[in-house]
Amino acid sequence: MDELVKNRLTEYPDLKLLIDGVWASVDTRASIAVTNPATREVLGFVPVATRQDLQMAVEAASKAFAHWKKRTPLDRSSILRRIADLVRERKDRLAVILTLEQGKTLAESQGELTAVADTFDWMAEEGRRVYGRIVPSRFPNVEQMVIYEPVGVVAALSPWNYPAALGARKVATALAAGCTVVLKPAEETPGIWVALAELCVDAGVPNGVLNLVFGNPSEISDFLLSHPAVKKVSFTGSIPVGLMLAEKAARSLKKITLELGGHSPVFLAEDTKPEHVARLAVASKFRNAGQICHSPTRFFIHSKIYQRFVESFVEGASALRVGNGLHQGVQMGPLANGRRVKAMEDLVADAKQNGSRILTGGERCSDDRGHFWKPTVIEDLSENVRLLREEPFGPIALMIPFDSIEEAVTKANQLSVGLGSFAFTNSISTAKYLQDNVEAGSLSINTFTITPPEVPFGGWKLSGTGSEMGSEGLIEHFNIKTVLRTEV
Ligand code: NAD
Repeated sequence: MDELVKNRLTEYPDLKLLIDGVWASVDTRASIAVTNPATREVLGFVPVATRQDLQMAVEAASKAFAHWKKRTPLDRSSILRRIADLVRERKDRLAVILTLEQGKTLAESQGELTAVADTFDWMAEEGRRVYGRIVPSRFPNVEQMVIYEPVGVVAALSPWNYPAALGARKVATALAAGCTVVLKPAEETPGIWVALAELCVDAGVPNGVLNLVFGNPSEISDFLLSHPAVKKVSFTGSIPVGLMLAEKAARSLKKITLELGGHSPVFLAEDTKPEHVARLAVASKFRNAGQICHSPTRFFIHSKIYQRFVESFVEGASALRVGNGLHQGVQMGPLANGRRVKAMEDLVADAKQNGSRILTGGERCSDDRGHFWKPTVIEDLSENVRLLREEPFGPIALMIPFDSIEEAVTKANQLSVGLGSFAFTNSISTAKYLQDNVEAGSLSINTFTITPPEVPFGGWKLSGTGSEMGSEGLIEHFNIKTVLRTEV
């Protein structure tokens, strides 16, 4: 075993369920092995929740809701703030857990945990600002009020790419709103939420307010989505699963927030500095090994700067050090699982067959102990190439030249997804054109920043429905009640 991994293994938690404040270990339950994607070594076994566990989790969340919704927003806020403080205090150990099970570099794990703390801090504040409205009446002596009431139990289903931060969005928002949660993180990365749930308990989250379950994803989602006590579902993951959950949620009209895949375009106008943008783009594209729903992937580059941009980008991509995220100096970790490596292989093979040129990468790394894939850059993409339509969700960047920005935007908008998008230009009129015409939930101009907690994040078209974070994400956790009141 890798010495460094061996030394840090003691920091990996015992994997357990949390139901009504009680921790439940594998015991007589079935279990699923959790492996380190950098070494394929087993880190632990996560218990599979039984039907009875799930029933108890929903009942606990339901019972706790009656009390949690009555706590003052200020009171809930102080607990959320304590969570944020504890995340900052325990960041070093949490980062090791995240790197061990997800693969990202330690620096990336630290960054993700900073985002977790910031998320709880933001919701701690925003939860205090759910004002409702007083609406002037058309009748004398009548008061009209719009009141927000928390919806109740939230089923939160979070994925493996940003297991800490994406779970935190769901938990922090629900708790700030006065809702309670049954959280099912991805079974590939369970440890970080076991540690974060411990931390939530330490911060004073009462029994039943946050419940943690793992198991068979479809059995758990079937159970939660058909349970009458669950009032809202929040899922981050793939489009096929999101669509299936939306159908199930519709049967009992549960509220739903879906954050699904994207295939982000980046528009580089002729007035940008290609070498400068290439440096930023390499850092952004290969962050988290490209496993980000808004990862910049389709680079539409004005033909006048195409060559310079592509050369700089390829130089930066091929110089990246890929390896075990625990090791110093590593800039990109492994892919999170073998499915992603297989997906990269299939997509690259298809591109090659259709005449595309692989400018760098396009294959596994020589260290085949883990799920390592080389940073990959591809050009000469004919219409048939699957990568133009299918999100790689991995470290693959596509180079596409254009002559007019209108043509690039039309091409980019042809897909049925619209999550993140980016543009680089010094021209106000080009920026305005893009702002008015790009079909996506977010557009970042002259920056690759996209998801600070104070702004909403969500997708258009098949990329999702609803928003997370900002004040918009919070409001989705409330029922609206209109009250008309007069004297008898
Ligand atoms: P997948 O479709 O099997 O799973 C995606 C996520 O959904 C996982 O977290 C999984 O645990 C969960 N899931 C699967 N079936 C479920 C069900 N029936 N009920 C509830 N949850 C369920 O795909 P995968 O191989 O894990 O990932 C592949 C694709 O998923 C990627 O290509 C990417 O498009 C998408 N993805 C998106 C995000 C995101 O941030 N939007 C995150 C992870 C994965």
